[in-house]
Amino acid sequence: IQSKLPEVGTTIFTVMSQLAAASGAVNLGQGFPDFSMSGELTDLVAKAMNDGFNQYTHMNGYPLLRQRLTEKAQRLYKTAIDPESDITITPGGTYAIYTALTAVLQPGDEVIIFEPAYDSYIPNIEVNGAIPVRIPLQFPDYAIPWQEVRARITAKTRVIMINTPHNPTGSVLNKEDMLQLQAITTGTNIIVLSDEVYEHLIFDGIEHQSVLRYPELLKRSFVCFSFGKTYHCTGWKLGYCIAPEPLMREFRKVHQFNCFSCDTPKQVALAAYLLNEEAYLSLGTQIQQKRDFFRTLMQDTPFRCIPSHGSYFECYSYGHFSQEADKEIAIRLTKEYGIATIPVSAFYKDNTDHKVLRFCFAKKEETLAKAVAQLKHL
Ligand code: PMP
Ligand code: GLN
Repeated sequence: IQSKLPEVGTTIFTVMSQLAAASGAVNLGQGFPDFSMSGELTDLVAKAMNDGFNQYTHMNGYPLLRQRLTEKAQRLYKTAIDPESDITITPGGTYAIYTALTAVLQPGDEVIIFEPAYDSYIPNIEVNGAIPVRIPLQFPDYAIPWQEVRARITAKTRVIMINTPHNPTGSVLNKEDMLQLQAITTGTNIIVLSDEVYEHLIFDGIEHQSVLRYPELLKRSFVCFSFGKTYHCTGWKLGYCIAPEPLMREFRKVHQFNCFSCDTPKQVALAAYLLNEEAYLSLGTQIQQKRDFFRTLMQDTPFRCIPSHGSYFECYSYGHFSQEADKEIAIRLTKEYGIATIPVSAFYKDNTDHKVLRFCFAKKEETLAKAVAQLKHL
C-alpha cells in the first residue's frame, strides 16, 4: 500500500525502552515515573467499579469530571469554561492533540511548530495532508525567536503549536511570550494549539503561563492536558481538551466517531479526587526535589546541564568531551553503561544534533543514584 507516513519509523521512546529492557539498563529515557501513584486515587477507581460505573459514560466526558475541571480552571487561571460546550475528556493528551489537528486542518495548510518538538506533532500534521513549518528554538536556552515566527507566517498558516513546560528541554514560556503570541494571532484566522500536559510540573517558583489565563488567546485555542502526568499514572491514558465552543464543536465531530467515550470508572474517581487541590498544587515542589537531587548527582559526571524549569526532563550536553552522534552515544550508554536516555536529535525532523541527551528524573532517588553512578566512569 502507499504509506501516508512514508518517513515514519518507530517512536524513539519505544526504541530506547526496548533497548533498555534488552540491556538490563536503568531507563531514564521514556517519560514515566517509577514510583507509586496515589493509593487514594486507585481506591476511588475500585470504588467506582464496585458502585457500578462500568458502562459508557457521556461521549464528551463524565459530567461531574468536566464540572470539576472547569472549577479548577476558574480557581487557577481565572477563566470561565462552560463544562457543557468547552471541554472534552480524551484518551490521553496525544489523542487530544491529534483530534484538534484533524478537526481543523485542510490539505496544504501550514502548521508552525518549534523544534525540538514532541515526536507526535509532525506525523499528526502530515497524516492530515498539512505541512509542518519548523522553527528552531534558540540553542541552548530554547527560547522562541518571535521575529522569525512573524517572518514565517503566510496566508496558509492555520495553526501555531506551543508546549509549555516543554518536552524535551524543560524550558517554559513566560508572560512576554504569551503576549507575543497573542499579538501575532489577533485579527487573523490562525488557531493556537497549546500542549500543557506538564502544567503542574513547574519549578523554581515559576507560574505556569496557561493559554487559559489569556482570554483573547483562548478564543482561538485548543488547550490539551493529561491526567497521566498530573497523577503519576501515564498508563491510564486519560486527558482532556479545552476550547471555545466553535472549535470544540468541530473537535467533537472527530472524537465521537474515533473514540466516542473514555474509561468511565477512572473518570468517576478523578472527579472525586479533584477536590484534593493539594494533590496537584504540591506536585511542582515534589518533582523539583527530584530534579535537584538528579542535578547534584550529575555534577560528578562530565555532562553539562541545560537547566530545566518544568516537565519530567532535564537535558545535558556532552559535545565538550565527545563528538559522537547523540543517537550513537545514547545506544552506547544503554548497552555499556546501563543507563538509557533519549537523544534530542529525535525531536528534529532533520535530526539536528547539538550533542544533547534528555534524562527523565521522575524516578525514585535510588533509581537516579544507580543510573548516574555508571556515568562517573565515562
Ligand atoms: N505532549 C507532550 C509534550 C508529552 O510529553 C506527552 C507525554 N507523553 C503528551 C503530550 C501525551 O500525553 P498522554 O500520555 O496523556 O497521551
Ligand atoms: N511523553 C513521554 C516522553 O516524552 C513518552 C510517551 C510515549 O512513549 N509516547 O518520554
